Amino acid sequence: MPSRPRAQRVLRWSMALGGLLTVAYTVAFWVVPRPNSGYVTLWDGWIATIVAGLPAVGMAAAVGLRRRARLGWLVMSLAVLLNLAGNLVSIYHDQNLDPLPFPALSDVPWLASYVACAAALALLTQRGRRVHRGTHLDGAIAGLSAGAIAVSLWFGPLLSVTGSPAQVVTGLAYPLFDVVFIVVIVAGLAPQRYRPDWSSLILSLGVGLFALGDIVYLNQTSAGTYVGGTWLEATWVVGIALFAVAAWAPSGPRNPVAVRDDAGVSVVPAVFALGALAVLVVAPFYGVPPLATLLAGGAVALTLARTLLTVRELRLANRSRREARTDDLTALANRRRFIEHLDDLLATTPAAAALLIIDLDGFKEVNDTLGHHAGDDLLVHVAGRFARALPEASLLARLGGDEFGISLPGCRHADATAVADTLLASLTDPFTLDGVAMRVSASVGVATYPEHGDDRSELLRHADVAMYQAKRRRAGQSSYDPVDDPNTVEKLALLEEFRTAVEQGQLVMHYQPTLGLRTGHIVGVEALVRWPHPTRGLLYPDTFIPLAERRGLIPPLTRAVLDLSIAEIGGMRAHDGPLQLSVNISGHDLLDDAFPERVLDICAMHRFDPSALTLEITETALIAEPARATTAIHRLRAGGVHIAVDDFGVGYSSMAQLLELAVDELKLDRSFVTGAAVDPRAHAIVRATIELTRALGLRLVAEGVEDEPTLNLLREAGCDIAQGYLIARPMPFERLTDHLTARAVDVG
Ligand code: C2E
Ligand code: CA
Ligand code: CA
Repeated sequence: MPSRPRAQRVLRWSMALGGLLTVAYTVAFWVVPRPNSGYVTLWDGWIATIVAGLPAVGMAAAVGLRRRARLGWLVMSLAVLLNLAGNLVSIYHDQNLDPLPFPALSDVPWLASYVACAAALALLTQRGRRVHRGTHLDGAIAGLSAGAIAVSLWFGPLLSVTGSPAQVVTGLAYPLFDVVFIVVIVAGLAPQRYRPDWSSLILSLGVGLFALGDIVYLNQTSAGTYVGGTWLEATWVVGIALFAVAAWAPSGPRNPVAVRDDAGVSVVPAVFALGALAVLVVAPFYGVPPLATLLAGGAVALTLARTLLTVRELRLANRSRREARTDDLTALANRRRFIEHLDDLLATTPAAAALLIIDLDGFKEVNDTLGHHAGDDLLVHVAGRFARALPEASLLARLGGDEFGISLPGCRHADATAVADTLLASLTDPFTLDGVAMRVSASVGVATYPEHGDDRSELLRHADVAMYQAKRRRAGQSSYDPVDDPNTVEKLALLEEFRTAVEQGQLVMHYQPTLGLRTGHIVGVEALVRWPHPTRGLLYPDTFIPLAERRGLIPPLTRAVLDLSIAEIGGMRAHDGPLQLSVNISGHDLLDDAFPERVLDICAMHRFDPSALTLEITETALIAEPARATTAIHRLRAGGVHIAVDDFGVGYSSMAQLLELAVDELKLDRSFVTGAAVDPRAHAIVRATIELTRALGLRLVAEGVEDEPTLNLLREAGCDIAQGYLIARPMPFERLTDHLTARAVDVG
């Protein structure tokens, strides 16, 4: 293989020479005196042979350069050499015979060269690019149609070959091959969207010249008017020279942007197919050759196939577009679709709209205990209930996991909260999963347009904040409130105000009495912090405790709460002994190694008996740092302070882990207590917990007692202490004394 520059040099010279000689050769037809036979051995034999042979050298050199098209150009060189062989056989053998034989020996290499040329064109135009199936079909359609048109134009009016069968076959073979060339070239243009690159353009020109020469030649021979050595010979010579030039012309898209490979229908094959159709239509009237009808019929049949393919592809494309926007599991819209929908909706600047985000509570528990299969089942059922509960104009989407999004176009805030209630109510009936009946609850966050945000991401974020708020408050639903939002400016301002409030002792305590079930007397109070905000009114801990936890304000808060509640409750007496004080602390308190000492110091300062103090810590906070919690608890209990596990039952921590912590009291979470009289599952949990605490020698406090039946059930099951709205709501210190006296008289 020649190196690149050398190949280039060989090419340039052979091309230059070929070009010069081609010009000279063509001019010579008119200037060189010609004999009557019209044939000049020097010109029409030698020079034409050399001229036609030079491109083969050029093409062979091209092989050194173009790796991808190498085979195509090799075959093309072979075609040129075969053509040369035909010329030589013709000059030295056929031309010496009288009369000129037809078919002659030279027709063998010449026809062989046409076969090679067709193969080369096929190889060169389909340059191994990976293209869409439809594109190949397009090419075949265009090629067949072009062939049909060519055949009906030439073969009918122009070509009327007569003679022996061998003469007819040979005579028709050349123009037929030209038709093949056209079919191949046109079909090969399909991947380039019928915008030929220079190489294909020049190849097509060469093919055109060949076809011209062949048709004229055939007409002349069949009419007996052919004379060798006219300008006619130039068509083939120049045709071959053009093939050679094509080998060196830049190939590849002339305009890269224009070349796309897609499933769309393109215009060119459609136009060609129309041509084929026209051939079919006129065939009965104009004696169109059967070959043309056949080619046109093939083109039309392929057009049908192409249409079917396109329809199927469009359907597939539609389906995958739909699939990209639906959730596999529930067949609801997915997050992508939901976001698109919101964008579309907000683009119309509606008068009102609402966005709900709804997240199942305890879904992880279902997955963990019953398996993912049951979890999936549950999601499908929940999706079905939501879908039935929603108004017509809404869009329900699964945003991921156990989170759903609902868009309510035109909905104002009041309507949106009503829809949220309906959704929550749709979950009331238990679901049956793997034969187990179970109930799920959910938390809904509501954000409305334009009040809570005017762009999609803001609304989504705010609905999310509201949903988490609902979750934390176990409120079912919650609407967006900037106060809950950890990221708003209001929030930062609030943080500063809160810091000041703590420092300046503006916090107040409310106390909720707890009832000893065996004695029927109030035994203690739980201290619950409140912040009387100058403009917002009385703020509850869920507005500021999470904030304080994030911003490191828990230690001063806890200190303030302990100071205040011990000061107020210390010295108060219950029926038999000091009134027990329960104070909530946060997991962050336990991270501070000095915390136990500080608590004991405060007790000492107020001369408060540590054994009348219970610190409540949530299960989750205890489990987060077991080692530190153990140390702190150990120290506190050594000083006489009692420890309670708050919100017991919601943290999913293992019992073994909890027991290692050695606590005094469990506070059963109110989600199990409130429904215990009516919900068999909650009832079972309450009974089991009572058994457990009894076996371990722990005190059990049931939170959230809201009705008489629940209280009776607890008492009867052997629960120690009850707390809840039924007994008393949390109240300011000023009311507590009155309440306790009244109560003592009551019970008295
Ligand atoms: P918690 O420790 O579970 O407190 C009980 C909460 O349940 C209180 O809400 C109380 O008002 C409410 N509650 C009492 N009885 C019933 C009832 O029968 N039904 C219903 N539905 N609710 C009842 P609150 O005061 O809003 O306190 C919320 C949470 O804030 C507390 O939950 C506690 O985790 C935290 N917290 C309160 N005060 C403090 C504090 O001083 N320091 C710290 N670190 N956290 C506190
Ligand atoms: Ca508590
Ligand atoms: Ca609690």
